[in-house]
Amino acid sequence: MEENEPYDFFETIFRLDACDDMHEFLEFVQGRRHSTADMLSAMTQLLGRGRIRSAYILGMLLEKRGQRSIVMSIALSVGGLIFGNAIEEGNGLASLEAQVQALSHERQMEVYDQMVAPLVSHLWASSAAKQDAERVWTILRHFQDVVTEGFDWTPQVCKVCGGKADYWFHGHLRGRYRAAYYWCAQCDYLSTEAPYWWEESAAMGEVDPPPAQMRQQWSKRRAFVGLLLQNLWDVHGENLDCSADGGRFARTMREAGFRYRYQGAQTLARAADREVKRSRRSSKTLERYELVTAFDVWQQCAEPGKMLDYLLARSDGVLFNMPLLPDPMPKPGEWAFYDLSGGRNISFFAPRSMRRLAERRQLQWLSNGEELHLLTRREISGEVFEGMARWIR
Ligand SMILES: [Zn+2]
Repeated sequence: MEENEPYDFFETIFRLDACDDMHEFLEFVQGRRHSTADMLSAMTQLLGRGRIRSAYILGMLLEKRGQRSIVMSIALSVGGLIFGNAIEEGNGLASLEAQVQALSHERQMEVYDQMVAPLVSHLWASSAAKQDAERVWTILRHFQDVVTEGFDWTPQVCKVCGGKADYWFHGHLRGRYRAAYYWCAQCDYLSTEAPYWWEESAAMGEVDPPPAQMRQQWSKRRAFVGLLLQNLWDVHGENLDCSADGGRFARTMREAGFRYRYQGAQTLARAADREVKRSRRSSKTLERYELVTAFDVWQQCAEPGKMLDYLLARSDGVLFNMPLLPDPMPKPGEWAFYDLSGGRNISFFAPRSMRRLAERRQLQWLSNGEELHLLTRREISGEVFEGMARWIR
């Protein structure tokens, strides 16, 4: 290899890392004496991308040169744990506490969000964590000051499938709340911890899109729901809407001649909660609806399974809109739908989560392949549903 310009060094490091060829990577980093500053910089960037193996190798080489830094300690403690080197794990941990304490609160938060959290998924996947989660928490607990007081990283129960939802990252909501996000490996459902900040977010209300866009969106929704009701439901029956628009959609549907009631989603969520706590009511006493529509609200539901059961005890289908979680899962700040500035969105579904919600209740999940979803116990052809959605678009 020619004499390395800084550009060549980084280009080569990231290219070899991306190839996942550790033999070539090692040969390159050990082959000549690269600048310590370049190696530190590459290690920091690799950690931020969650590329722990390459960062760990650079960390060990830098340690031999007598270097010490918080980024190195993270690379060594995390890498040592994942790749089964207890000595390196201990070396990293030995310096971490003092190094974290020496940082300002803002910088601690930055280090945690940009370097530690991207490694959490690798940590959970490691056999060391599977045998002894306490070792992972030992690393994470050094950052107790940047998560909420008393927060302890233990997994939660998935609200979609009942499986184990592991801690994944923290989002910085509304500029001041630190919210933990949990991801379930069994159904890909991602959700925040119980939304203690939600009352404030909900009080702000929805940010309305510009009126022209909103009118267009409404007329499309009205036309689509009208088509569904006329073709697949009893057009004379009563329907329920719980969209996040204070009842405006229900009103436009009534104006178009449909029987429609409105009830706020929060009221429904409280009722669903009470119903689960009480013994189940006899189905004879329940109010009945044809279809339930829930626009811009499903992502704000903390207990989607409970809510779905409540609504489906009263209707044969729930229609809602929501973009599905992209694969790979975006980091906080990489997906506008996380709504970090508003803090309203707390539930994120992947295709697998939708299938799981449906299967557990013997429902059919119909989708236009984008944002529009119908969970129903009626037998409706996916082609018919998609055809209607296409026609409206
Ligand atoms: Zn799950």
